[in-house]
Amino acid sequence: MNDSLVDNAATRLARHAPPATLIRPDIGVSFEFFPPANEASSEALGRNAAQLAAYGPQFVSVTYGAGGSGQDKTFDALDQLTATADLPVAGHLTCVAASKETVQGVIDDYRQRGVTRIVALRGDAPADAPAEHPDGYETAAELVAGIRARHDGDHFDISVAAYPEVHPKATSAKADMDNLKRKLDAGADRAITQFFFDTDAYLRFLEDARATGITAPIVPGIMPITKFAGICRFSERCNTSVPQWMHELFAGLDDKPEIRELVAATVAAEQCKRLMDHGVTDFHFYTMNKANLTAATCQILGVTSTPAASNKSASKAS
Ligand code: FAD
Repeated sequence: MNDSLVDNAATRLARHAPPATLIRPDIGVSFEFFPPANEASSEALGRNAAQLAAYGPQFVSVTYGAGGSGQDKTFDALDQLTATADLPVAGHLTCVAASKETVQGVIDDYRQRGVTRIVALRGDAPADAPAEHPDGYETAAELVAGIRARHDGDHFDISVAAYPEVHPKATSAKADMDNLKRKLDAGADRAITQFFFDTDAYLRFLEDARATGITAPIVPGIMPITKFAGICRFSERCNTSVPQWMHELFAGLDDKPEIRELVAATVAAEQCKRLMDHGVTDFHFYTMNKANLTAATCQILGVTSTPAASNKSASKAS
């Protein structure tokens, strides 16, 4: 090899020095699960949560009422996560089609179980039920205010939902952003976003939110790809765009789970790294009750269970 090629290689290598360590104690993660439908999936939840506990999540959350599951299943899953994995837990709570009394009863139940973190949501009414209850909270903002107005209201850590690509039923992006501000002004501590694959959409949304005067953390919701076709259908319902490059990347992989998982973890980690380049330090993972993909993503990112000095939940960058 001639000398000038060697020199060029040396210069290039010096420019791209590897990091001294990949470990990033400043990265905070949380993991979302849905309530298991039967005993077998309940055992799997325990195993998956134990595996993800190694990454020291700020909290793990359990959805509420999504896909028609009842509140008891959420309670059971929260109890299980507390008992078996000893993880800080957050209960999701929806207010749609319920009276204030019922909703407050659920909050009492959470409190009794030691659950003081709540992801407060409006929720979606089942197709056959009226969305509004005559004595209910009409919006998530009203629900947040209803939690804070309790005698123990200050005790709760409250997250709300945000939509970088706009909620499908919002009248406009501005109305949706104003709604987010109302929820945070009513006392929510942070927002967690709907999952997105268009990272620029999140970054623009974050900029708009700051311009609107929102200072609370807006934690990106990261969805590692399980079955691509299923994720595309779900994305359509959520108004989440799936870029063309993803269609090309995942083409033919629905029946090749091992390859798909390797690709999916890489894609999710690249998305997180891009966000990290923009100062984002907290990530909420939609685990779909599977540990491997999310664990691999955390591993690539250098997430550690070592608590960060900054701790994590107070990050204002995200
Ligand atoms: P809000 O903040 O009250 O509204 C959000 C936006 O949607 C506003 O712009 C509002 O005007 C508009 N909007 C909502 N509904 C209507 C309507 N009927 N008509 C007109 N405009 C409307 N769902 C569950 O059932 N269980 C869960 O556990 C759950 N967890 C979630 C967690 C996260 C992080 C996210 C992002 C979403 C979650 N969802 C869950 C979905 C959520 O309930 C729906 O997106 C719901 O439609 C809106 O809830 P919200 O709290 O954002 O509502």
